[in-house]
Amino acid sequence: MIAIYPGSFDPITFGHLDIIKRGAHFCDRVIVAVLRNPNKTPLFTVEERLAQIRLTTRHLPNVEVDSFEGLTVTYAQRQGATALLRGLRAVSDFEMELQMAHTNKTLSTQLETVFLATSNEYSFLSSSVVKEIARFGGPIDHLVPKHVAESIYRCYAKTHPVSALTEPTLAEAEPPTRMLHE
Ligand code: ADP
Repeated sequence: MIAIYPGSFDPITFGHLDIIKRGAHFCDRVIVAVLRNPNKTPLFTVEERLAQIRLTTRHLPNVEVDSFEGLTVTYAQRQGATALLRGLRAVSDFEMELQMAHTNKTLSTQLETVFLATSNEYSFLSSSVVKEIARFGGPIDHLVPKHVAESIYRCYAKTHPVSALTEPTLAEAEPPTRMLHE
């Protein structure tokens, strides 16, 4: 079974990684697909997010990373996928996710949405929460991979130099140029 795991991943968190790992366990291939959404103003470009996800999942041989625009269903059909992976954190996710699953079912009866319940320790975790903590100089190393944490701090150091510079890892971190453009 080929599954698509679509989302914004701005940036990827340990919550996303948990879903990817568990998906990769029962799917032949998981394609993590970053949606190119012109209506959103993300912290990271699509190319930066692709590089972050590739680095984060490089130890998972049946996981691929790609981007797409337009309908998820159309992209999934093009990839020969039969499942869409989505994570559920709380009841608040459920309504929107169910509506999306029903909508997608009207577009393709061949594609099943598979929901994975979040692992307990990540039930509160979202990309927005991580950005909010980092913006005020709080610790995020337990929420995202180290290379992602460093990139986030670098972004906020430009706009919030005082709070971000209190983070010790910042001084040690090298510019991400090579990592993000691999
Ligand atoms: P979107 O912008 O489509 O919500 P996200 O990048 O926020 O994209 O999330 C992609 C998917 O990952 C969604 O199904 C979301 O519910 C799921 N997800 C995000 N964070 C977690 C988490 N901590 N635990 C489980 N699933 C998660």
